[in-house]
Amino acid sequence: MSFDVAVIGAGAAGMMCAAVAGQRGRRVVLIDHASRLAEKIRISGGGRCNFTNRETPPNAYLSANPQFCRSPLARYTPQDFLALVRRHRIAWHEKHRGQLFCDDSSEAIIAMLRAECDAGGVAWRMPCSVEAVRTEGEGYVLDTSSGPIRAARVVVATGGMAIPQLGATDFGLRLARQFGLKIIEPRPALVPLTFDAQQWAGWSALSGVALEVDIATGKGKTAGQFREDLLVTHRGLSGPAVLQISSYWNPGEPIAVDLAPGVDLAEALVQAKPGSRQQIDTVLAGLLPRRLADHWLAAQGLAGKRLADLGDKALRALGASLQAWSLVPTGTAGYRKAEVMRGGVDTRELNQQDMQSRRQPGLYFIGETVDVTGWLGGYNFQWAWASGAACGQAL
Ligand SMILES: Cc1cc2nc3c(=O)[nH]c(=O)nc-3n(C[C@H](O)[C@H](O)[C@H](O)COP(=O)(O)OP(=O)(O)OC[C@H]3O[C@@H](n4cnc5c(N)ncnc54)[C@H](O)[C@@H]3O)c2cc1C
Repeated sequence: MSFDVAVIGAGAAGMMCAAVAGQRGRRVVLIDHASRLAEKIRISGGGRCNFTNRETPPNAYLSANPQFCRSPLARYTPQDFLALVRRHRIAWHEKHRGQLFCDDSSEAIIAMLRAECDAGGVAWRMPCSVEAVRTEGEGYVLDTSSGPIRAARVVVATGGMAIPQLGATDFGLRLARQFGLKIIEPRPALVPLTFDAQQWAGWSALSGVALEVDIATGKGKTAGQFREDLLVTHRGLSGPAVLQISSYWNPGEPIAVDLAPGVDLAEALVQAKPGSRQQIDTVLAGLLPRRLADHWLAAQGLAGKRLADLGDKALRALGASLQAWSLVPTGTAGYRKAEVMRGGVDTRELNQQDMQSRRQPGLYFIGETVDVTGWLGGYNFQWAWASGAACGQAL
């Protein structure tokens, strides 16, 4: 069983890499321990796979080495992937903020990648688990549940640790450590944020409330800021705003939420006062979801008060409190609920032309195993396609 290339992990990055290398004439074997192909593609985008974004600028990616992703992303662009999608006659549409989805089902993307692998004559070993990887002469031997597999080069595309219930593992990180590569501490990302049960007791009654907010955390180069929808849940906060900011959040740090972005609430409340006979509850419910407005006023002891009876100072303080809500999450909902893993193989260990280890020739890392994490909105798949293609073209 001897191949030019063994790709471990038949997910988004692994299939792209295997297809590209196979179509360049390499003898490729693609190995995955799962019994169902590409589960993460299947469940992505609510079953419709948000397969890329119109624009994938490098600043939409987090990494300890932010420049690294530039080269792969520039060499395989969203337009390149879209051309592939068109060639396979997959119907797609654009949702907000440049997010591109399949019209029907993410199965179409899986079938497309499978067909591309077939066009490259890729051999499959699945389900097949890799027990060990060792060097032999100038190549590698993989001890697998289907027996030993020999290959001149090994590509690690085993993804991140998000959703372990679907077979996600830390295999890529363990292998990187085995060969002496540094790791940037992995953490769940694109994940709901949670709060202490006692601290959240009052808020959990607002479960289901959703609204657009500005959300921010961090300082300087590592700061994140988004305008997206927030969702209150029984355990904490979720929705796109919170998933996005979770990738930037560090334990112990506060997040800042503006519950009425683009509106000067203090000014709006003061302006509404002259001649008003309304209660503050009614006025605020015109600016925010009713349940949220009621909860906030009750917490501040203002429920039921007439607007006219409140001083400008109190109204301004109320407006400011809603636009600079600062709270410290106790944690995240963890890998079981995360969409991706942040951190991974330190990109300073890899060559950005081909994703090859600088210290271990013939060993490559691609996709989510690598310390490049995209925003929500198709950016993570684009990284998987781009890093997979960069590697496949060099094999
Ligand atoms: C619920 C959910 C929804 C998502 N939606 C989107 C979206 O719409 N758009 C977007 O851009 N991103 C989305 N993502 C993120 C995206 O799925 C990942 O970033 C992407 O799949 C990473 O590609 P990958 O090839 O690196 O890893 P994966 O696609 O996870 O593939 C890794 C493969 O390696 C295999 N593997 C793991 N360990 C081993 C081992 N020890 N031996 C053999 N095989 C192994 C796994 O079985 C898997 O097939 C979503 C993620 C989740 C969890």
